[in-house]
Amino acid sequence: MKKLAWHHLETVDVLAELETNNEEGLTDAAADERRKAAGANELPEPKRESRVMRFLKQFHDVLIYVLLGAAVITIVLGHTIDTLVILMVIVINAAIGYIQQSKAEKALDSIRKMLSLKATAIRASKRKVIPSANLVPGDIAVLKAGDKVPADIRLLEAANLKVEESSLTGESVAVEKKVDALPLETSLGDRLNMVFAGTSVAAGSGVGVVVETGSSTELGKISSSISNVQKLQTPLLKQTAHFGKLISAIIVISAAAMFAIGYFWHDYPAGELLLAIIGLTVAAIPEGLPAVLSIILALGVQEMAAKNAIVRTLPSVETLGAVSVICSDKTGTLTKNEMTVTSILVKDEEYELTGSGYSPKGEITSRGQVVALADAPRLKQFLTCVKTINESHLFCNERGHWEISGDATEGCLVTAAEKAEESIPKLDCLAKIPFDSSYKYMAGLVEHDGTRTIFVKGAPEQILRMSKNDSADELDRWHGEILLHARKGERMIGAAAKKVPANTASIGHADLEEGFEILGFASIIDPPREEVIESIRLCKKAGIQVKMITGDHKETALAIGSQMGIGAEGLVIEGIELDRMDESELQEAAVKYDVFARTSPNNKLQLVQALQSLGHICAMTGDGVNDAPALKRADIGVAMGIKGTEVSKEASEMVLVDDNFNTIVTAVKEGRRVYDNLKKTILFILPTNVAEGSVIFVSILLGTAMPLTPVQILWINMITAVTISLAIAFEKLEPGAMERPPRNPNAKLLSGYYVFRIAFVASIICGGLLYMNRTLAEAGLNPAIVNTMTVQALVISQLFYLFNCRSEKGFVFRKGFFSNKAAFIVSGILIAVQLGVTYLPIMNVLLGTVPIAAQHWIWPIGIGISVFAIVEMEKWVWRKMSASR
Ligand code: ATP
Repeated sequence: MKKLAWHHLETVDVLAELETNNEEGLTDAAADERRKAAGANELPEPKRESRVMRFLKQFHDVLIYVLLGAAVITIVLGHTIDTLVILMVIVINAAIGYIQQSKAEKALDSIRKMLSLKATAIRASKRKVIPSANLVPGDIAVLKAGDKVPADIRLLEAANLKVEESSLTGESVAVEKKVDALPLETSLGDRLNMVFAGTSVAAGSGVGVVVETGSSTELGKISSSISNVQKLQTPLLKQTAHFGKLISAIIVISAAAMFAIGYFWHDYPAGELLLAIIGLTVAAIPEGLPAVLSIILALGVQEMAAKNAIVRTLPSVETLGAVSVICSDKTGTLTKNEMTVTSILVKDEEYELTGSGYSPKGEITSRGQVVALADAPRLKQFLTCVKTINESHLFCNERGHWEISGDATEGCLVTAAEKAEESIPKLDCLAKIPFDSSYKYMAGLVEHDGTRTIFVKGAPEQILRMSKNDSADELDRWHGEILLHARKGERMIGAAAKKVPANTASIGHADLEEGFEILGFASIIDPPREEVIESIRLCKKAGIQVKMITGDHKETALAIGSQMGIGAEGLVIEGIELDRMDESELQEAAVKYDVFARTSPNNKLQLVQALQSLGHICAMTGDGVNDAPALKRADIGVAMGIKGTEVSKEASEMVLVDDNFNTIVTAVKEGRRVYDNLKKTILFILPTNVAEGSVIFVSILLGTAMPLTPVQILWINMITAVTISLAIAFEKLEPGAMERPPRNPNAKLLSGYYVFRIAFVASIICGGLLYMNRTLAEAGLNPAIVNTMTVQALVISQLFYLFNCRSEKGFVFRKGFFSNKAAFIVSGILIAVQLGVTYLPIMNVLLGTVPIAAQHWIWPIGIGISVFAIVEMEKWVWRKMSASR
């Protein structure tokens, strides 16, 4: 395609130039042809660091430097095998780090792909939602509030279209767009007849022709890559990293002290002492911990995605586990969003509609008789209005199911119109005001019965307000009827019309203040999602409050709330009341009420702020462009995958593939599981490191022989890191995890209990090993055999302790003992490997072990069982104590 000054051309010339047509658009085949020539509408992937570089970076780590130092010392001392093993461990460690990092990144990448941008285009006269990567020059794109502009587009129509272009121009105020051609030299920021890729539609709607795609767009020109590389840090990982540094420092200092003690006090030979000190350092540093933790988080992200919750950042996985209040929209999240008009009220008459769903099969009846429209002019006018002021499309899919594209509230009105026994016209709109939940109506200017008329449809209060010159009795009557339906949980939509002078060519909100004549009201049912009722009950048990925040009428909201188990009887507050409140009143209302009706997007923001100031961790759902500030502010912004706008998705931490409230609860559950498992992992890894360190520490202090060589410690750390410490990642949610209140997000990771447990377990393992060593040395057993037994005792204790850690404080043989297959598989692998270490000659040479007789296994297994039993007893005492408390 030629590059032209698109803003300077008239729309007809743009269409001609791109060989397209604004009514029909391109066909899919033509678009495919063009895509072959122009390429996909994507920016090139940002350049990633090469694999080699990423692998090499794994060596940039204090621990590795310590190990390299150790390797040098062992060479100097002539321990070549030790050097080889240390080098091997260094390489394997780097490889594990590399694989784990790539895995975490891959998990996040695939999630990003699931969220690829969508665009609406007219293809062969039909509106279609397509991946925006498939757009080509010449496509006719349809834009509405909340869309990300998918390409550079020359506008053909703009209805109050406002576009936020700060990503391109730096200007944060949304620009109102027009369609007229502009002078050639107009600068980018002033090209009002163009919208640009990467910007977003703040309000209104529009149609335009795609002129540039991919890297030819203005965005593509300024940056050929938007780096959206995710940070893999989370609050917990930061806390652990900080903690890790702290222990490393302590270890290095105590190592130096040990060297001094050993050298000057006990007269150890310098070489052997150095090796021991290296062993101590290596043993006590929990090198595997950060990698294991981030892999648990990444697995959590994948697990959530499999359950329809796409979490966009790793830290959110943690936050989800701490959520204490969920603020949810009603329509589509708590209800099915399958709307059906059940009755239509016009002056003096109420009509019933038969049929269900979007299928136009059904009839409009009055007192059991099918209504002839010729006898019901008011009904006909109502239907004409709601069909005309409507952006949705009704169609029958390949499977013969009736579906709508667009908004469900509008879709059901089209279906209702189709049920009339004669065809209802859809008039051409000369100008329109698109729907927005902040003002809750939608209007269009039409030519009707020879006069220009404004048709409006919207929330009943708005329609009544616009028609206030009707008699007071009349308005009261309407009001009464509306309440009657709302109390049944039905959503009400009104329609009204006003004649305007023949020269009227545009409309604004000022034209909708008064002078309308009410055409009627439709009442719509939207059944609650049955499964959500159970989830709400679950939330209550888990100490999570559920609040419903809806744009609907307060009676509708109350009725649906009571069906779902949200809120106390009769307690509901409207957005307009929140608007008048100061900060402390808002806090009070946020606690007192669970049902918020007729809210605006700004009310959502107010509520999030109030709840957060009370210390809540708040999840908030949203779908519209105006919800973005509240979604961003919430601890977990939750966007809707189906009906959510692109802007709301971008502002959120989590996107629900199925728009279902249940999915939020599932994600919270998963968040609790992941967090518990992170803590269990810490509780597993740290005591074993401390135990290893202490064994060496005490031996040096007492001047006894070293029970383990550095190489053996390295081996044990490595083999347990790649096997059993990963098993906890697969641990299922503990029974009762959804019956305790949400965790305090500010609580310290290493609580008093954790410090106790780490010290307690470390002393049992360390004490057991030293006791065995002394007893067997006194009995005169061959030191090489004792050494191998010590290696096995350490590994077996860890293996048993793994099973203790599967539940932080619960009894290990509870229900679900066999639920984590990974724990058994890795245990099997570890046992096989350790048998190899004992009986394979090559391993004997590498690790300095010797084959041992069957009875020599009694000690190691005995120590393992003791650790297991003592820790279970400690947990039992803890449970008894907390029960009596
Ligand atoms: P919820 O917050 O429960 O998900 P919602 O977001 O659908 O509800 P809004 O979209 O703000 O709520 O709708 C508020 C009111 O505006 C509805 O009760 C209805 O009366 C009216 N309304 C909704 N959609 C339209 C529309 N497309 N055209 C005209 N009026 C509408």
